[in-house]
Amino acid sequence: MSEMKEELVRAAGILEIPLTPEQLEQFETYYRLLIEWNGRVNLTAITTPKEAAVKHFADSLLLTKAVELPQGGKLADIGTGAGFPSVPAAILRPDLRLTLVDSLNKRIRFLEALSAALGLNAACLHGRAEELGRTKLRETQQVVTARAVAHLGTLAEYCLPFVEVGGVFAALKGPEIEEELMESEKAIRILGGELEEICRFTLPDGSRRSILRIRKISQTPTGYPRASVKIAKSPIK
Ligand code: SAM
Repeated sequence: MSEMKEELVRAAGILEIPLTPEQLEQFETYYRLLIEWNGRVNLTAITTPKEAAVKHFADSLLLTKAVELPQGGKLADIGTGAGFPSVPAAILRPDLRLTLVDSLNKRIRFLEALSAALGLNAACLHGRAEELGRTKLRETQQVVTARAVAHLGTLAEYCLPFVEVGGVFAALKGPEIEEELMESEKAIRILGGELEEICRFTLPDGSRRSILRIRKISQTPTGYPRASVKIAKSPIK
């Protein structure tokens, strides 16, 4: 067994996430493509087998523990980069219909190749979240997620417009979240969200993570998301 697979089996065991041999093989394909493409497209600084297994794959799989992903549901990943966290979640849950969004086209090319290799049901969209949130994708997703993209207030403006009322925005964050959450409470409320739970995890390497589960309780007002410059210059406070 490859070093990456060994690490992933160990990590998934500790986190109590069951993986089949077929799913492990898909993670191996993912890892191989990630390393291959990383040579020409800047995808990630995390490249060793152990780090990729824990900090990318196992970390992303935490999403499946923090959020109930409805069978056949629509999951959008905003600023997904090389596919984190939604692609590992979709390896576990191939019934999910993915929308992968990133503003860098070269990453979208990678995601298209990855989706084809893994046989994923995924639409790979090149664009900025704040522009796509005003298209027909608005309020169509059961779950919208993002990891390492922006401050929570800004992220809420990127993500909540895509979530249907009753659905969930799941923000993957580090351990110290209280201050960021306080600064973002107003944005979350204005955009139609309500914090439901902060799910806390410890990865096998000792690093701690929080996943904020924010429920969409009312429609996002039509004035949001605002234009990129507005969001950057005057975050909702
Ligand atoms: N989510 C991935 C992860 O956790 O590895 C990638 C994180 S990377 C630090 C941030 C990604 O968000 C980049 O790929 C960037 O192109 C994308 N991004 C930043 N702002 C964005 C926006 N407004 N709309 C869409 N993508 C955005």
